[in-house]
Amino acid sequence: MPIYQAPQRDIHFVVHELLDLPGHYQRLQGCEALDRETLDAIVEQGARFAEEVLAPLNPVGDQHGCQWLDGQVSTPPGFAEAYRQYADNGWLALDKDPAYGGQGLPPSLGYVINELLCSANHAWSMYGSLTGGAISTLSEHADEPLKQRFLPPLIAGRWSGTMCLTEAHCGSDLGLLRTRAQPLADGSYAISGSKMFISAGEHDLTENILHLVLARIEGAPSGVKGISLFLVPKITVKADGSLGTANGVSCGSIEHKQGIHGNATCVLNFDNANGYLLGQAGHGLNAMFTFINESRLTVAQQGQGHAEAAFQGALRYARERLQMRATPRQLPGQPADPIIAHPDVRRMLLTQKAYAEGGRMLSYACAQLVDQLHHASSAAERTAAEHRLALLTPIAKGFLSESGNEAAQLGIQVFGGHGFIREWGMEQIARDVRITSIYEGTNTIQGLDLITRKVLADNGTELNKLLTEIEDFCQASRAPVELNQLLAEQIATWREVSNWLNQQHDTDPRLVGASAFDYLMLAGYCLIGYHWLQAASVAERQLAAGSGELEFYLGKRETARFYLRRLLPRATLHQQLIKSGSANLMDISDAAFAR
Ligand SMILES: Cc1cc2nc3c(=O)[nH]c(=O)nc-3n(C[C@H](O)[C@H](O)[C@H](O)COP(=O)(O)OP(=O)(O)OC[C@H]3O[C@@H](n4cnc5c(N)ncnc54)[C@H](O)[C@@H]3O)c2cc1C
Repeated sequence: MPIYQAPQRDIHFVVHELLDLPGHYQRLQGCEALDRETLDAIVEQGARFAEEVLAPLNPVGDQHGCQWLDGQVSTPPGFAEAYRQYADNGWLALDKDPAYGGQGLPPSLGYVINELLCSANHAWSMYGSLTGGAISTLSEHADEPLKQRFLPPLIAGRWSGTMCLTEAHCGSDLGLLRTRAQPLADGSYAISGSKMFISAGEHDLTENILHLVLARIEGAPSGVKGISLFLVPKITVKADGSLGTANGVSCGSIEHKQGIHGNATCVLNFDNANGYLLGQAGHGLNAMFTFINESRLTVAQQGQGHAEAAFQGALRYARERLQMRATPRQLPGQPADPIIAHPDVRRMLLTQKAYAEGGRMLSYACAQLVDQLHHASSAAERTAAEHRLALLTPIAKGFLSESGNEAAQLGIQVFGGHGFIREWGMEQIARDVRITSIYEGTNTIQGLDLITRKVLADNGTELNKLLTEIEDFCQASRAPVELNQLLAEQIATWREVSNWLNQQHDTDPRLVGASAFDYLMLAGYCLIGYHWLQAASVAERQLAAGSGELEFYLGKRETARFYLRRLLPRATLHQQLIKSGSANLMDISDAAFAR
């Protein structure tokens, strides 16, 4: 049975020693009241909820799954009670607008808590995170009367939210979508069509579900320009906010899938369902990007959260499992030594640790930018945060989901055959984390977004700012010189290959597609390298000051060394693959794939 323990010491390291979140809150408008003690107390309570309530439900959700009967979906035993506790204790309201019942705390605090939920129970956590995305989208794009009517019950956790983009014939390519919206005399719309793969599309956790649906208004142009965004409640809502009758939305079935069994993945049929336009007609995809971008950061945390859980399980096991003799021998009185003493087991554990802790640094740094986006005092700071976050989001989503998958596979490997069976929880982690590379835009789509919209479109301006910042840090860092140099070399590689792509993509139009995944991974390795160098620099300062937590800071320094020596060099391989061009993929004809 896996045991999850919230990594509170490491969270403190990132929020206090690396990012100084309390200091950062002082510089934001409306967040000044959140001091260190309050922050730590909230994290401690979140840790207890994750450890004591959600983690025990994780295997229950996996084994029971969700059940569909005549259009109704029941979630696994215990899920509804945990959701009620989550809502009643104000977790959903934490960082939401007080004008609609929220507590007004900074978004980064919500992200810290979200990591705990993802590690403890990914499937369960999605019901709340999708509701959070719906709240953000309504807050930004709904008019005031809609906000007054729909936000308070969402924030109170009485209603939940979904994102409805995908249709059977349209996943990555949303321009193909067919769901229709017919204008009605009262200004609302009748929505008809079928959506599939809708997470949390139907369940028994809340009294109503608000679907945020992409559809095409009759007569709108084809392609993404013709798409609008609608709010479609499962049960209609009267003007005074009370529930009306069932709307024309039904759940046709749920998917039987590899992982996240506790989350209902639904086919939703809309049959003249009454809905409300959010934002401007024809700008629906833009509006939905509020939801999509938030969800991409959440998916990054799901990947990182799984890396953390897999590392915890593998580390505990590796300390106890005795197999073969190590060099030198460790336990002469025992028939064998613990497997943690073997170099290759250490390679696996250190890889997991480097991903779990490095991913935490990256995702909290992104969360800090989300704070600035909403609460910075000047427009210039908000714009700067927006540009940086736009660059980092695909890297965080893509790299933390890929590294989460790798860490999960290593979790199984450290356990040997015991990892392959259900009992220890490692195989559930590997099944659950798999979806993170696929949904919210596959990682190929993240790579394409990164190169085309975030790097080439602005001629590398934001990227070059980031790279210069990292190069400056390599000069100023207190980490061992060898580590500064290792990162500086790979940053030069990142800069060089970006310039090369910028020059070459006009002459080879297939190059961007051929490079997308490798460029994403190269960027991810380098960015996590930056965070590890920052961690090593903090650790060096603490060690020099004679910190009483010697093992903790030595662990940071040595994990940084491991990462920069053994994982960061993979960036060079990705550079070589990019430079190999597109012909080795494209010259083989479709017919020649046949055997
Ligand atoms: C468990 C689960 C939950 C989900 N939850 C939701 C949800 O809540 N709401 C929602 O709307 N959707 C949801 N989805 C859908 C998910 O977002 C899509 O599955 C995903 O975006 C990919 O779309 P697709 O499956 O149609 O694959 P396709 O788009 O058909 O892609 C197939 C393959 O082709 C590749 N590909 C496509 N275009 C290109 C290109 N231009 N260049 C290179 N490669 C390309 C893809 O990367 C992929 O490898 C969920 C899916 C699952 C499985």
